[in-house]
Amino acid sequence: MTSGHVLEKVRYGGRGVWREDLDVRFGIWDVGYRMPRAERVGPRASHGIGYRMLIGTLTRAILAALGVACEPVVRQDRQGRPTSVASNISALSIINCQLSIINCPPERSEQGIGIQNSKSMNSKIGRRPQRGALNNPNNRFDAHQKVVIPELEDRRLNAEEEKLDNKTKYVLTHPKTILNKITSPDVPGTWGLNPYQGCEHGCTYCFARPTHNYWGYSAGQDFEKVILIKRNTVQLLEAAFAKTSWQASPIMMSGNTDCYQPIERVEKLTRGVLELCWKYRHPIALITKNRLILRDTDLLAKLAKENLVHVAVSVTTLDETLRRKLEPRTASAPQKIEVIKRLSEAGIPVRLMIAPIIPGLTDHEIPAIAKAACTAGARSISYTIVRLNGDVAEVFRDWAHTHYPDRADRILNRIKECHGGSMSDSRFGIRQRGEGVYAETIASQIKLARNRYLPELNAEGRGVLPEFNTALFEEYRPGQRKLF
Ligand code: SF4
Repeated sequence: MTSGHVLEKVRYGGRGVWREDLDVRFGIWDVGYRMPRAERVGPRASHGIGYRMLIGTLTRAILAALGVACEPVVRQDRQGRPTSVASNISALSIINCQLSIINCPPERSEQGIGIQNSKSMNSKIGRRPQRGALNNPNNRFDAHQKVVIPELEDRRLNAEEEKLDNKTKYVLTHPKTILNKITSPDVPGTWGLNPYQGCEHGCTYCFARPTHNYWGYSAGQDFEKVILIKRNTVQLLEAAFAKTSWQASPIMMSGNTDCYQPIERVEKLTRGVLELCWKYRHPIALITKNRLILRDTDLLAKLAKENLVHVAVSVTTLDETLRRKLEPRTASAPQKIEVIKRLSEAGIPVRLMIAPIIPGLTDHEIPAIAKAACTAGARSISYTIVRLNGDVAEVFRDWAHTHYPDRADRILNRIKECHGGSMSDSRFGIRQRGEGVYAETIASQIKLARNRYLPELNAEGRGVLPEFNTALFEEYRPGQRKLF
């Protein structure tokens, strides 16, 4: 509100195109505000909202009449950390719940402080379908838990509120490390790497949902609506490679959240990781449900030539009606099969992941999925049986009763039968395969599919993917001087 709060530089983008030739100061509209938790990006934030909402609304109306879109920018503290947003439309962003941190101009990206509202971000990513989760369970770590007040339960958002409430928010985080040591004996790879937390694909069964609680969000819709971006991913990975103690060992991308979810189209962090792995000839494995991976076919093909990459494509169902409800923002089934085909044609080893199999809902599709994927070029088949850990049980139960009320109980009971009477099972080795009659039936269907459709089987009766080459890294290690 004061001249002390003037914007450093306001950039305008008419119809999503950045224009850098304007340097305008909006002293009167320079409204700092306290960011709600979903948008808070720094330790300090200031001011309330109140009448600033009105100012923001009026401002937007004026700018809209002029045919101009205005983007908020971030203030930073002395350490360069973002503290609050200062913009003539920042208050409006609160109303809309659509503040997003994204694709800022290059010089701002380097400082990691760019903020842009989700309107222009959405225009870059394109139209996306509905959400998977239908509710937002309490965060188990919150001091205050929400309760439903029956007399207010009937209050519904109006159409405009609903539209705004459905926007995805992007929050920039500043991790100090990027690699997680994989200690689970039933998970392949040595290191896990996830450039994003939360996943916009919104699969209702996603086992990663409860991890959003650690970031202060719900495992329900928050998981798919609030995406945390680790923009320093590539720098942190290069720093890890540069350590003299670093031993090359496959890094698993997307062990937690999909590295090709929609925001990757803008951020290109996964591509940055692939470029780094190619530069240092480091082995890497990826798993995805999105066709955006085709963008990186060039890099993946180079890595594949040196036996440095495996790709797993996860296909849950071939039924598009079901997929749109179950995992609404993933690629369609035909697109996933196309991904397998095009990557295989480029010489990239592809594994089909039928994950997860939901007994009573998708288990009958195993042969058809295996046939379609192996015909397209998949060389190996893996699977998991769904397990509904933590809040995922509530999210999935709600989803099943809403979309398949006639079958919901049967599906949930079969899931329980696979996990010893519970919705989930945390025992290594058993949690992914389940036990009991249904689990055994599924295992034999997978075995049949492998025998029938895979071109080559190993000693355990599985498909064959080339061994990772971990030796090359020694020649290309950071700081290594090539001998020849
Ligand atoms: S694509 Fe993977 S990480 Fe994303 S929501 Fe679905 S299961 Fe979870």
